[in-house]
Amino acid sequence: MSKGKAARVQGTQSHGPLPACVEGFTRLQHPVTQSIDGSTLTGAADSQAAIEQPCQEDVLSSAMAPQDGGISVAIPEADVSTDVEAEQAIAVSEAETALPVSAFAAFGLRRELLEGLAAIGFEEPSPIQKAAIPELMLGRDLVGQAQTGTGKTAAFGLPLLERLDAGQRTPQVLVLTPTRELAMQVAEAFNSYAACMKGVKVLPIYGGADFRDQIQHLRRGVQIVVGTPGRVMDHMRQGTLDLSGLRSLVLDEADEMLRMGFIDDVKWVLEQLPAERQVVLFSATMPTEIRRISQNYLKDPAEVTIRQKAADGRRIRQRHLVVNGPQKLEALERVLEAEGSEGVIIFARTKAITLTVAESLEQHGYDVAVLNGDVPQTQRERTIERLRDGRVNVLVATDVAARGLDVDRIGLVINYDIPFDGEAYVHRIGRTGRAGRSGEAILFLTPRERRFLGGLERAVNQPIDAMEVPGNASINQHRLDRLRQKLTTTLQQPVCNPEERALLGEILQRVAQEQSCSPDQLALAALELGLAGKPLLLQGEERWGQSRPGAPTRERDRDRDRGGERRPFNDRNQERSEDGPEDNMERFRIEVGWRDRVKPGNIVGAIANESGLAGRSIGKIRIFDAHSTVDLPKGMPDDVFADLRRLRVMNKELQISRLGS
Ligand code: ADP
Ligand code: MG
Repeated sequence: MSKGKAARVQGTQSHGPLPACVEGFTRLQHPVTQSIDGSTLTGAADSQAAIEQPCQEDVLSSAMAPQDGGISVAIPEADVSTDVEAEQAIAVSEAETALPVSAFAAFGLRRELLEGLAAIGFEEPSPIQKAAIPELMLGRDLVGQAQTGTGKTAAFGLPLLERLDAGQRTPQVLVLTPTRELAMQVAEAFNSYAACMKGVKVLPIYGGADFRDQIQHLRRGVQIVVGTPGRVMDHMRQGTLDLSGLRSLVLDEADEMLRMGFIDDVKWVLEQLPAERQVVLFSATMPTEIRRISQNYLKDPAEVTIRQKAADGRRIRQRHLVVNGPQKLEALERVLEAEGSEGVIIFARTKAITLTVAESLEQHGYDVAVLNGDVPQTQRERTIERLRDGRVNVLVATDVAARGLDVDRIGLVINYDIPFDGEAYVHRIGRTGRAGRSGEAILFLTPRERRFLGGLERAVNQPIDAMEVPGNASINQHRLDRLRQKLTTTLQQPVCNPEERALLGEILQRVAQEQSCSPDQLALAALELGLAGKPLLLQGEERWGQSRPGAPTRERDRDRDRGGERRPFNDRNQERSEDGPEDNMERFRIEVGWRDRVKPGNIVGAIANESGLAGRSIGKIRIFDAHSTVDLPKGMPDDVFADLRRLRVMNKELQISRLGS
C-alpha cells in the first residue's frame, strides 16, 4: 500500500501506526472508503475519521477501480439519516476511546470483547470488519460480499455480541451456515470473542448430533444459536427453538446455502422471524437468488463489497496442466514431489476418486487423509485437527466435505478433477493463501476440459497459467533440495536423545578407524543410508508424458473422462449405456435437470438434509437436460421414498422414481 496516501487521507488519525498483523490483514491499513450519499467517509473505524466531499467521479472511481490493495467498499442508496447516524457513531466512539487499546476499540466495543480479541491476537480489523461493524452496531441490515478468509465471522460476531441483552433468556442471535463444520467454527469463534464476557451461551445446532441434548441446552437458556438450516427448522417446528425474541439473523455463506439446495429453508426461517429484526447476509458471490432474498427480506440494507481479487491473485499463484485421464495419478505424484508444500488439499469429484487417489499416495509414502461424505462427523473433526497440526500433510476431499474448511497451513490446492463451475473453483483455491500466507493452486485438465479454462479464469478475473507435469529434472532438483533441508534441520534439531547420539558417534568412530576413511566419506555413506534403498534420482527422459507407452488415444481418453456431469444430454439411451450403479446401490430418476440449473451439490444437499439419508449414502449423480439420475442405497424405506418424492429442489418437486422399474 502507499503510505503517503494513507497519511494524506487519514491525516487526523490520533493513534500511531497500526500494529503489523499477519500479512493479509496489514492491507487494512489501506484506507477503507465508504461512499455514503456522495460523501466519502474514510477509515470508518478510526477514531477521527475525516469526512470529505469528493466529486461524483471520485466516488465512482474509488468504488469501481480499487487501487493496489484492491479494496473498495460501496454503500449505495443509503438514506440521508445514515449519514447523520454514521457521524454520531463516530462521535461516540471518539468519546469512549480516548486511549484505544487496539484498533478495535474505535468501534466502541465493550472492554470484555476487546480483551477477548487481544487474547486471540486480533490487532486490527480486516476491511470487511471495518466496513460492517459500525453499521451492525447501529442495528442496520447488511449485505456483505467478500471472499472466504476475509474475516466475516468477527464482522458480524463482534457487533452482535456487543448488542446482546444479558437479561433475555430466549435466543437473540441466529446464524445459519451451510455445513455443520462451519456451524461449529462460527460457534467457536463466538465463544473465543466472548471468552471474557459473562454468561454468554452459544449453541451449535446441526443434524447428526444428539437432538435431545440440543433441546436441553436450549431449555437452559441460550443467547446465540448457530446452525444448519435443516436442524434449525426441525427445532422451530417442534417448538424447541423459540425465536420470538430474536433480534438478529445472520445468513453466513448464503451462496453456499443456495448451492446446497437450502434456499427454500432459509426463506422459510426468514418468514417465521419477528417483524422487528436485523438481517445480515454474507456471501462470496451474489447470484440472482441471493440478491432477491436481500431485496425481499432485508430492510434498506447497508451494502459492503470487498473486492479482493487482485490481492487474492497475488496471494495465490494459480496454474493449470493438461493431462490425459489415465495419467492423472502419476501426474499428481509428480506434482506433489516437485511442488509439494507443507499442507496440501487435493480436490476430487467423487468419493470413489478420493479413495483411489489417497490409496495411491499412501503407497508412495505420504501421510494422507480422506474427507468425503462417508466420513462420520467425529472423524471429520479429528481429520481436520490432524491436518491442522501437521500429523497429516495431504488431504483428499470432495467439495461438499471440504466446505468451509479453515486450516491455515494449506500451501497448495490441487484441483485433481475440474470443479463444476467458477464459484466452486474460487471456493476450492480459497483453502490456501489464508491468514495472509501465500498459496499455490494447480488445476488438472484433461485435453477435452481445456475449454472450461476460460470460464474459470473469468471467475478469478486473472489468467491461470499453463505449466507442465514436472519432469525428472525438476523432481530430482526438488529431492536434492529437500534432502539438504532435512540434513540442515537434523543438524540443528537432532532427532535422537543424547545417549543415542553418543552411541551413534561411537559407531562412526569405529567405522572410520576400521576403514580409515575421511569424515566426508563417512558422512556420504550415512546420507546414502538415509535413502533407505530408494533411488535418489529419477533416471531417463527430461520431460514427462511425451509419447509414453500406453498413452491413451482420444477415444480411450473420452471414456475415462469424468466431465459427463457438466453437459446436458438429451439421449435417454446414453444414461443406460453408461456404467450402472454400484452393487449395493439403486439408480433413481428425479425430475430436475440441467434446464433448472441444478447442480449436484443442490441434489446432495437437499436429499441429505431432508430425507435423513446421510450424505455418505448418496452415490453417483448425473444431470441431464430435464431430469437427473442419482444412485441411492438399495432398500430405501417407503416413507423415505415418499418424503423424497415431495422434496423440492430448485423449486421443482423431485418426483423421484426408480429407474428401470
Ligand atoms: P471468512 O468467514 O470471511 O471466511 P473468517 O472469519 O473465518 O473468514 O476468518 C478467517 C481467518 O482470519 C480466521 O482464522 C480468523 O481467526 C482470522 N481473522 C479474522 N479477523 C482477523 C483480524 N482482524 N486479525 C487477525 N486475524 C483475523
Ligand atoms: Mg466464514
